[in-house]
Amino acid sequence: MTSLPLISVDPDARGRRPAMPPRHLADLDLPGRQALVAELGEPAFRAKQVSNHYFGRLVRDPERMTDLPAATRERLAGELLPTLLTPVRELACDDGATRKALWRLHDGSLVESVLMGYPDRVTVCISSQAGCGMACPFCATGQAGLTRNLSTAEIVDQAVYLAGVAASGVVAGSPPRLSHVVFMGMGEPLANYSRVVAAIRRLVAPAPEGLGLSQRHITVSTVGLVPAIRRLASEDLSVTLALSLHAPDDELRDELVPVNQRWKVSEVLDAAWDYAATTGRRVSIEYAMIKDVNDQPWRADLLGRLLAGKLAHVNLIPLNPTPGSRWDASPKPVEREFVRRLRDAGVSTTVRDTRGREIDGACGQLAAAGDTDGDSRAATA
Ligand code: SAH
Repeated sequence: MTSLPLISVDPDARGRRPAMPPRHLADLDLPGRQALVAELGEPAFRAKQVSNHYFGRLVRDPERMTDLPAATRERLAGELLPTLLTPVRELACDDGATRKALWRLHDGSLVESVLMGYPDRVTVCISSQAGCGMACPFCATGQAGLTRNLSTAEIVDQAVYLAGVAASGVVAGSPPRLSHVVFMGMGEPLANYSRVVAAIRRLVAPAPEGLGLSQRHITVSTVGLVPAIRRLASEDLSVTLALSLHAPDDELRDELVPVNQRWKVSEVLDAAWDYAATTGRRVSIEYAMIKDVNDQPWRADLLGRLLAGKLAHVNLIPLNPTPGSRWDASPKPVEREFVRRLRDAGVSTTVRDTRGREIDGACGQLAAAGDTDGDSRAATA
């Protein structure tokens, strides 16, 4: 990795001391919570009670935990449910079906999450790091660099918080229950591997241990850290892997996804096919359509040849131009031709909807730059 100073796969290991947040119930599995509660001098079953409030009922206010003795509520909530995310701003668009939340973390770092309602499901897009070290030149988060890894609970709490928002019924025309989580917010999830995997375990564990989501409804999106993809395949999880490919050839991918200088297209695709074989899950290939950069017919054909016959689905993402970027989205006819060529090659292909564009909440726009006036909870619906 020394040849790539921008890419720091595990900043903790490099001797820096990131300011991690206080311990939270969601950092621990149920036995860990029971041990902690016992250490605090309370009966171990209180761990289940508090977990049930947090994950089962989406309640974090100790006043509402009426099955706990009044004297211990505050103390237990203080120990197990410290505030990790302070909402700075919530924005809504798409007639209220998309909501972006900007959070301040305990050390002042800012991260964002997006809640998206559909007729049949509710998805949250969550962040795994404050900033990102992967330096993809078309991505807003990539421009600012990495601040730090999020803790397991900081990751989980984004989903739990927004599950509560969904449960309040504000996402008109959608079911009230959160069903899907995508790690497509800020950060590179596989560069914060152990915390992200622990967060996935909390998301899929049945209540009261966790949120009870289906593994198949969780998507981890990565630039393609090959050893981490292989490690993820060896966990007893079958979450969906999304690979941010963006170019079928090394020359262009070296520029668009700089980690390609370390792990080439052929290596990352091999790891993806092994992931698909091990888990039985179709890999989602992400491809941002960038005008005159990666949208040529020959690149569609090359991509088609790489993917034909594989357990893969292509998700084309119209580029969301980021401030100061020299790049633009491909024109629609070019996009249609790209889709046609992929489908002709037998590759299943769809074009991603561009939810959240007006609130800078679409893919690659999450930059947490919106905290200039310091006002809190300004909701503009
Ligand atoms: N680090 C992970 C998650 C990032 S965000 C990853 O790279 O996969 C999820 C997706 O949005 C990635 O495919 C990313 O490449 C894409 N993306 C980033 N910036 C974008 C932009 N400006 N327009 C469209 N897609 C973008």
